[in-house]
Amino acid sequence: MDYQAILEEISQEVRPFLKNGKVADYIPALASVDPEQFAMSITLFDGTQYSVGDMDKCFSIQSISKVFSFTLALKTFGKKLYERIGIEPSGNPFNSLVQLEYEHGKPRNPFINAGAINVTDALVNHYKSDELAFLEVLNFIKSIADDDSILSNEIVSKSEMEYGHRNIALANLMKSFNNLDNDVTKVVDVYFRHCSIEMNTKMLSRAMLYLANHGVDPINAKRYISAQQAKRINAVMLTCGHYDASGDFAFHVGLPGKSGVGGGIVAVVPKLMGISVWAPGLNAQGNSLVGTKALELFTSKTSLSIF
Ligand code: GLN
Repeated sequence: MDYQAILEEISQEVRPFLKNGKVADYIPALASVDPEQFAMSITLFDGTQYSVGDMDKCFSIQSISKVFSFTLALKTFGKKLYERIGIEPSGNPFNSLVQLEYEHGKPRNPFINAGAINVTDALVNHYKSDELAFLEVLNFIKSIADDDSILSNEIVSKSEMEYGHRNIALANLMKSFNNLDNDVTKVVDVYFRHCSIEMNTKMLSRAMLYLANHGVDPINAKRYISAQQAKRINAVMLTCGHYDASGDFAFHVGLPGKSGVGGGIVAVVPKLMGISVWAPGLNAQGNSLVGTKALELFTSKTSLSIF
């Protein structure tokens, strides 16, 4: 298949829609991003990459980082992790407080904010320090992306904290139900710092390979997690990776995927490739509008959906 030609075709087809999305505006650092940017990359199992657009431009990975913190926590705690978080779609916005109240402080899944904050709390327990928990997430990402240059943007994480009232409220609510062990501010700070990691689509498509290959990096043969765990993470990405638009994403794209409010999306074609797309304008559910469209075009043109 001529992947390069397909990516170029997609890029042409989606460009007119770039202005239709709305960039995240809850913090100034994200509100100032130019919405007229687009990048898409795929990485195959032998390391071959195909990319189009602003493929070298690093952006805020935001909730894509939840896939990596969940991976680390699942590897560390195994099934015990599910005593703190569930695995069902929430059907609610990613930062909603309502369900968390009536479900007694147990988040529906690791990809809504409450769930990811809870996962971060579990990591702070395990590594016995907030700083180490953050560094382990960052180092894990550097390892799966095979890139040591990856950093978290402090301007973004500080700004997240300054405007983070809702996330802090989620953490406090879990604490009130005894489902958060550490200091709220410290846990939320680690969460914001891993959300503020910056990567480009080339790095992110490379980083997804372990999930396309049963937990083993196909390029360097490192096993990160068990095949069972990789299966679970892909399943949760498929059912919960796009919040209350997860059904829509499965319907139109048909791949396990995870979005972030920075406009990035990662997706997995099992046994074949990692994919990442970036277009900062979001739809009403906080997922990249053009990114979703580009992935839909990709699976339509290549017949590479899992269905
Ligand atoms: N840091 C963002 C938040 O907590 C992440 C949300 C997202 O990417 N959907 O609001």
